[in-house]
Amino acid sequence: MGFATDAIHKGQEPDPTTGAVVVPIFQTSTYVQEELGKHKGYEYSRTGNPTRAALERNLAVLERGHSALAFASGMAAINAVMTLLKSGDHVICSQEAYGGVPRLFNAILKTFGLEFTYVDTTQAANVERALKSNTKMVYVETPTNPLMNITDLGAVAAITQPRGIRLVVDNTFLSPYFQTPLTFGADIVVHSTTKYLNGHSDGVGGAAVLAREDDAARLKFIQNAAGAVMNPFDAWLVLRGVKTLAVRMRQHEANALRISAYLAGHRKICKVYYPGLPNDPQYDLSKKQTSGFGGMMAFETGSLENARTVLNNVRLCSLAESLGGVETLICHPATMTHAYLSEDERQRLGITQGLVRLSVGIEDVEDLLADLDQALERI
Ligand SMILES: *Cc1c(COP(=O)(O)O)cnc(C)c1O
Repeated sequence: MGFATDAIHKGQEPDPTTGAVVVPIFQTSTYVQEELGKHKGYEYSRTGNPTRAALERNLAVLERGHSALAFASGMAAINAVMTLLKSGDHVICSQEAYGGVPRLFNAILKTFGLEFTYVDTTQAANVERALKSNTKMVYVETPTNPLMNITDLGAVAAITQPRGIRLVVDNTFLSPYFQTPLTFGADIVVHSTTKYLNGHSDGVGGAAVLAREDDAARLKFIQNAAGAVMNPFDAWLVLRGVKTLAVRMRQHEANALRISAYLAGHRKICKVYYPGLPNDPQYDLSKKQTSGFGGMMAFETGSLENARTVLNNVRLCSLAESLGGVETLICHPATMTHAYLSEDERQRLGITQGLVRLSVGIEDVEDLLADLDQALERI
């Protein structure tokens, strides 16, 4: 079946007891047992909940995995995945990963004896060079936030697979509609469902999708043991969101293509970071491993003053962190999403004071263009 069909139907079969077309919100903590040791597969909602299970089945199919597990947030999913490792293990991580990732790794997991090396994974050779005898995981985010840098998943998997090193890919930015890392040899996909999978900016959640059966069994054990599960209502919201993922992603991208072309031709913009621009250096790699470019982009206004002018004068675009919702969000990475980095570190990564990030929504694109145009005119 096609992606949109799977998104709408997989895991979301009509309720067998009532015929309800929509998977109900099973807002229950426990389940009655018919007799001692005899139940319907559910005992306690940390361990298993039918609404969460429906979402987990759905995401496993969309990401082409063995199974999926839903967590209370993207960070909870990532933390659970990291506990597949043990003290003394070494992890190679994309240097531009979502800010919460190095925070978790450096401030918490290091104290439990995990070792981390951060490299520019857009050059697979950097991953190979960073390998140690105790390397057990490579953690990649592609495209990156906010500069949309792309890692060649096949090239990195060619390094990890023969060595039995787990490749974990954060697929939040493109969603399985545009990119399925497991089909390129990744072992685990993680998501902040808060973003495109939910798609409506009304819930926080996360998921991990596993290719390997042993990882799946272990992570299910960890999910129940550590307990950071997604609640039934949030699972229901993500199920509802996923049903329109295909049409939303197509529209996010259509709008982003128009807006990136407009910005690239604007005399007050120095540079646009969007892999869907045909002259973008990453266009070909992007074409090779994704079926689309998504709705995220960044552009360089030249100075903090110029960025401030744009951010303070947009009316339709909302000045806010987060991304992936139907509404267009605009933000200033240097002082918002990446404020935790030192100025030196931001300079090294190319996150300048003049950089503005856009999460392009699915409003009428003419309205978005008009809004950006009037704000840019004030520079
Ligand atoms: C938001 C985000 C996360 C963290 O997810 P939460 O749901 O906020 O915990 C991880 N990775 C990426 C790429 C994100 O955008």
